[in-house]
Amino acid sequence: MTPPSDTEVREAVLWAAQEMLRSGLVEGTAGNVAARLPDGNAVLTPSSLDYLDMTLDDLVVCAPDGCVVEGHRSPTSEKQLHLAVLNAYPEIGATLHCHAKHVQMFAITHQPIPAVVEEFDVYVGGDVECSDYRETGSQELADEVARRVADRAAVVMANHGLFACGKTPKDALHVASLVERTAEVVWGAQSLGPIVGVPDEIGAKYASYYRYGRTGKF
Ligand SMILES: [Zn+2]
Repeated sequence: MTPPSDTEVREAVLWAAQEMLRSGLVEGTAGNVAARLPDGNAVLTPSSLDYLDMTLDDLVVCAPDGCVVEGHRSPTSEKQLHLAVLNAYPEIGATLHCHAKHVQMFAITHQPIPAVVEEFDVYVGGDVECSDYRETGSQELADEVARRVADRAAVVMANHGLFACGKTPKDALHVASLVERTAEVVWGAQSLGPIVGVPDEIGAKYASYYRYGRTGKF
């Protein structure tokens, strides 16, 4: 498959950012999206701009060290978060952060979102852990999140929201939507009775498909 062009990556970031708003994963100007460009720099959504007014010209390009190399706006205040993950994992091409409502229920109770269906293991790699609390916009938050997505496509950010990653912005958005949907299902199911998970060996098998899809290795 031909790798996406510089323009296609930028279009995919803008599309995912706007779709994130349309699908209710964020409100207002919250959340942010980033992706690696073919030259190794990263394109990020800007700080505090309405998603529906955003154009390709508003996106900001940063070098791996965080220096702005292109764009007339400030990059998202979570720049370090996105760059930490893109720099740590060459197989990850895109990152997304949002304030999905049901995930935030888990974020404020510091609970993981369990991989209760096989599909979740395949796309996310297992339970989505809740991070330790770190202040928004800090390098400490970036390091904490990056550490937790070594073999997982998402992490609950304590008292904050959700971080998701994938090969493309569309993949990262799919992960975020799946995690939010599962958070809602788990929250609702708990009113019916205790959650019964997928058997461990089955969960491990499906999680191995995630790792293979991500790294090419089981
Ligand atoms: Zn946030």
